[in-house]
This record gives sequence, C-alpha cells and structure tokens, in this order.
Amino acid sequence: MSTSEQTHVLIVGAGPTGLSTALSLLNQGFHDFLIVEETSSKGPASRAITIHAATLEALDSIHCADPLVDLGIKGEGMEVSDRSSTFLAATFSSLAPYTRFPFVLLLSQSTTEEVLEARLLKLGVSILKSEKVVGLKSKDDGSVQVLFESGKVISTRYVVGADGARSTIRHLVNIGFTDPDGMPVDEQLNQMILADVVFSSDSIVLPKNTVQGTTSAGRVFLTVPLPKSAESDESVYRIGFNVPISSGPLPSSPSTVYLQQFLNDQGPVQLSSDPSINPNPIYISKTIWATRFRTHAAIADKFLVHIPPDISDSTRRTAVILVGDAAHIHAPAGGLGMNLGIRDGIDLGVALSAHLKSPNEDNGVLEEYTSIRRRRALSTIRLTKRIMYVIGALGATRFLNISYWGIRLLALIPFLRRLVAWNLSGLGNR
Ligand SMILES: Cc1cc2nc3c(=O)[nH]c(=O)nc-3n(C[C@H](O)[C@H](O)[C@H](O)COP(=O)(O)OP(=O)(O)OC[C@H]3O[C@@H](n4cnc5c(N)ncnc54)[C@H](O)[C@@H]3O)c2cc1C
Repeated sequence: MSTSEQTHVLIVGAGPTGLSTALSLLNQGFHDFLIVEETSSKGPASRAITIHAATLEALDSIHCADPLVDLGIKGEGMEVSDRSSTFLAATFSSLAPYTRFPFVLLLSQSTTEEVLEARLLKLGVSILKSEKVVGLKSKDDGSVQVLFESGKVISTRYVVGADGARSTIRHLVNIGFTDPDGMPVDEQLNQMILADVVFSSDSIVLPKNTVQGTTSAGRVFLTVPLPKSAESDESVYRIGFNVPISSGPLPSSPSTVYLQQFLNDQGPVQLSSDPSINPNPIYISKTIWATRFRTHAAIADKFLVHIPPDISDSTRRTAVILVGDAAHIHAPAGGLGMNLGIRDGIDLGVALSAHLKSPNEDNGVLEEYTSIRRRRALSTIRLTKRIMYVIGALGATRFLNISYWGIRLLALIPFLRRLVAWNLSGLGNR
C-alpha cells in the first residue's frame, strides 16, 4: 500500500555526506527536508579513518568538530618507508599557524557517522531508515515523486543524491560516471585489502599517532592506529595492503591467516610474526572486520540536473544534485574521499538555502556551487593519482633509478613534508 508525503528537499542516503548536508541545512535555519536511508543499521565495517584539517573546520561550522576530535587520535604525521628508511612524509603539526586543527584526525567512519546522527537527533531530525529509493517520476506541477521499494511515495522539489558510489539517483537521471582522464591506477596497486585488527601485544613499537606506509617492490602496506573502542580496552589498528595480480584474486572475506601472510611479506618488520626477521614476533590476535576492493576513479558528467531538463520556468523545475561518492570516487591514497563528501554536503546546505531564499529560486547559486565542487573533485582525483603514481614508481624502480633516489632525498626536506601535509589538509581550498 502506498503512503504519500511531501517535503521541499529529500536527501537520499545517510552516510557522512547525507548527514552533513542535513546538518548544514539545519544550521542555515532550513527545516523543510527529509533524510532517508535504505539500511536499518550499519555494521562494524568502517571505511574512512581520516578527517583532514579543512574538513574539521567545515564540521566546526555545523558544531560537530569538537565532539569528533574528543573521540579520535590527533595524527601528527604520515610516512611512507621501505624496510630501512622513510622517503615520503607529511608533518601535520606544521599546519599550526593556519588552523585550529593542525593534525589529521584518525577516527573510524562508523563513529563519525554516529556523532553526526546524534547531533541530527538532538536537533529534532530522525532519519527515515529501511527506506530504499527505487524510482523518480516528474509531475506536471514541477515536483517529482520519489518512489520507494516499500511502496512509500514522497513528493519533493529537490532531490539530493547522497547515496554512494553505486548511486541509484545517478542512474535514475542517466548521468554518466567515468574516469576523467581515462588513466587507470597502476595494475599492481589496483586490488587492495583493508582490515581493522588487534595485535597479540599492546606494546607494539609503532608510533601511536602516525599513519605509516611500508613499500617494497610494487607492494605497499599501511598501518594506522585507531582509537580504542568504547566496548573494549584493546588497541585497534587499521591495516591495508595491495595484492599484486600475480598473487591471485582477492578473497571475498580475508581471513586472519591471509592478513598475517601479507603482513609478514610486506608490512613493517616490527609487526611480523616471523622470528627470522623480527626478534620480538607478534601476530594478529583478532580481525574485527576485513574487506577487499579495487581502486578506480570516476566523476559524474554533471552534479546538477533539472527535471524536466528543457523547462525554462524556474518555478516548475525540480533539481537533482549529486554529492559525495555518488558524484566522485577515487583511490583511497591520502584518505580524502569522505572529506570531499562532507565538504560537498556542508557547502550544499549553504548554497541550497541561499537558493531557496532567493526570489523565484533562480539565482545561479546552485550552478556556481556545483561547478566549484566539480573542480575540487577533479583536483582531488588528480592528487590521488599522483600519490599512487609515486608509490608505484618507488616500488618498481628501486635502487638503480635516479627518480627513486631523487624522491628519497626530497623526503628529507622539511619544506616538502609541510607541503604534502598542506595539500592533503585541504586548507588551500577552504
Ligand atoms: C576501502 C575504503 C577505504 C576508505 N578510506 C577512506 C579514508 O581513510 N578517508 C576518507 O576520507 N575516505 C575514505 N574512503 C572513502 C569514504 O568511505 C567515502 O568517500 C564515503 O563513505 C562517502 O560517503 P557518502 O555519504 O557519499 O557515501 P556512503 O558512505 O556510501 O553512503 C551512502 C548511503 O546511502 C545509502 N543508500 C544507497 N542507496 C540508497 C537508496 N537507493 N535509497 C536509500 N539509501 C541508499 C547507503 O546505505 C549509505 O548509507 C574509503 C573508501 C573505501 C571503499
């Protein structure tokens, strides 16, 4: 049986991007919206673990930065090393003159989402959960009907597609989603595993506030300290590594034994369980969750479409706006994806409320917003491809190659460590 509701703005998807959009609209004093989500609750899987300085500043504008900072680890640096020394580094503390947040906040995406949802609830807005959008139908009065699997129908004027990389909304309005320059990520770095694990010893010799990458001939292994969970006192680490094509296909559900094997082969020596290379062997004692994925980049051909597309009367138009992963995806290098989505959402809240307050809702502010966010997405895709290229080049050209030694020497220069931190922080694009 269908039930019909009405709202001015419908946000589809309650991931970090949809939640940020909702909070930003409220912060602008706009309340006539609904936020819907297909799942009933999220599991332990937690993809993003980094919140950069400019994103924290944006979150501060909607009063969410401090509660997140209270729960996370203030990451001071990011380093990529081989098994002997460091050759790519970022020093986030060098951002101190420019921001209140001179660090990269290390916090699981699930906790970030919990904090944003709790704030939304405190402001009186609940997410409509277990409601999956399956269709859009435009009406003569200029509104659009959003159709749900449950039979529910919601009429609205603005649909915000915050429904992730496989966006139903993007498909329903036929927007293409392709790699902007057609250059795929290095095949060796293409298939990846991520997992949150606990080690057999709590006194492991890795720094507790640094993201560490270890490379060795076309291989990369990442270790990131995460905050202790509320339920237990165990230290949790995010590990991530590429699986070269020659090592076969990725298992759908990587086991602890599988993770340990790659850790011993390509991870930091101090974390190895192999006594022949580590005099104090330790091992993964628990896998909280693990996932596999392939890295690729894509951007939506348009972030904004009107329905019907050819109508000139602004009072009879409906807008569909894509944000977050629905609009762009890229390799996880530098931990930037969720950051881009949160800033899409917060900026959209500001732009959409300015648009709605303007006479006839037609002041060009939405077009300007989407063109700025599209440029930001393209530059982030370029940055992540560059990072992947450097990591791939370091692995492939070791020892004999001038560029290998060139990159190693550059990493010793403090100015460059600060420059890498600045680029990742997003502060240049406030
Ligand atoms: C393995 C991995 C590691 C990552 N690590 C990092 C990192 O360290 N740092 C970082 O910044 N980013 C990282 N990212 C990227 C980050 O996870 C995403 O950019 C972020 O989740 C995007 O948020 P979103 O809200 O746009 O989309 P999502 O998080 O995908 O949320 C979309 C929501 O929409 C809902 N939905 C989907 N379809 C429908 C529908 N039809 N109807 C109703 N609801 C629907 C979904 O259930 C979901 O809740 C990583 C990504 C991956 C895959």
